[in-house]
Amino acid sequence: MTDSEKIIEKAMRLGAHNYLPKEVVIERAEGAFVYDPEGKRYFDMLSAYSALNFGHRHPEIVAAAIGQLGKVTLTSRAFHNAVLGDFFEALCRLTGKNMILPMNTGAEAVETALKTARRWGADKKRVPDGLQEIIVCENNFHGRTISVISMSSDPTARRGFGPFTPGFKVIKHGDASALKGAVTENTVAFLVEPIQGEAGVIIPPPGYLKAAREICTRENILFIADEVQTGLARTGRMFACDHEGVVPDIYVLGKALGGGVMPVSAIAGDKEALGVFDPGSHGSTFGGNPLACAVAIKALEILVRDDYAVMAAEKGAFLMGGLRKIKNDEILDVRGKGLLIGVEFSTAAAPYVKKLIEAGVLAKETHKNTIRFAPPITIEAADLTRACALIETALTKE
Ligand code: PMP
Repeated sequence: MTDSEKIIEKAMRLGAHNYLPKEVVIERAEGAFVYDPEGKRYFDMLSAYSALNFGHRHPEIVAAAIGQLGKVTLTSRAFHNAVLGDFFEALCRLTGKNMILPMNTGAEAVETALKTARRWGADKKRVPDGLQEIIVCENNFHGRTISVISMSSDPTARRGFGPFTPGFKVIKHGDASALKGAVTENTVAFLVEPIQGEAGVIIPPPGYLKAAREICTRENILFIADEVQTGLARTGRMFACDHEGVVPDIYVLGKALGGGVMPVSAIAGDKEALGVFDPGSHGSTFGGNPLACAVAIKALEILVRDDYAVMAAEKGAFLMGGLRKIKNDEILDVRGKGLLIGVEFSTAAAPYVKKLIEAGVLAKETHKNTIRFAPPITIEAADLTRACALIETALTKE
């Protein structure tokens, strides 16, 4: 047995099978590359579902983490910590909002947004408490908690997990008239991924987000953008909503906010909405911990200083061009924005993923037929060229 085989055997024997990982063990990583215990190098073209926008172990982010490790890592919110305010300030500046609520994972941030919307509905919109409705989209992915899967239309995510949280209405993604038709006097929020990542990089028709924003404004409904995957430059703009000049009431952020080092999530909004929280109404022992703040502050600084949005747009155009050149009549569509690109096949994508991995390119299918390509935004141009060549060889079918 190789080291990789031994590691896989143990993990599969002792761990719950809520994932079916590809048979690759990552032992170390740097930038856009990961290495297995046998020393084989792979291009990381998944980037932990966009959590690695900065690549693996970005030196400045690692240095910020090490600096904070030498001071204090955890205080709980029972006390103030010296860097939390700076984290809030940096994220307010980036989002243009004036209030932040920090958590750890994307799902927790989504839960936080749902609680914000419900309480805002009760306190500000005067919807009777218990009747608040939140509109969400078909094929959404917002995380794995019970309330979050209560919004899901995916039977695999839901089977055996009922009873579900009430108060959600599921409508078609990309159809503004469906949103208009679903609104009632009890509607408090519309929650949407500007591009549905997990569903297979599904981009709504142009004008959809703008129309949805207008409906929300007119009907006095909070527009909540789940930018956990699309935010922080991934799609070639700082937020995917920027492509349509849309400003949501609440941004839900996670993944890359942790700089590829640790889980950091948050929602950003204005006092009108986030001001509804009072002491005891919400929280997390780890949310806003000093280590997370130090890492996120550095990540946000680099994101703006090095113009990651432009990098993602330029490298995304190159990758898209390369993927569109591939000759294979089983490829139905190549779509995406910036460095979030999906290649949809008419057949199961898993055999192609296997070929990619053999060629040294890590990627994974989502929803059976689509392979998502989302390398670190920091990938060097020459490396992206090499990765494109490997992908072309693996996916070509004459
Ligand atoms: N929202 C979106 C849009 C996501 O893509 C994800 C993760 N894929 C989540 C929420 C959940 O994030 P986490 O896995 O950190 O809970």
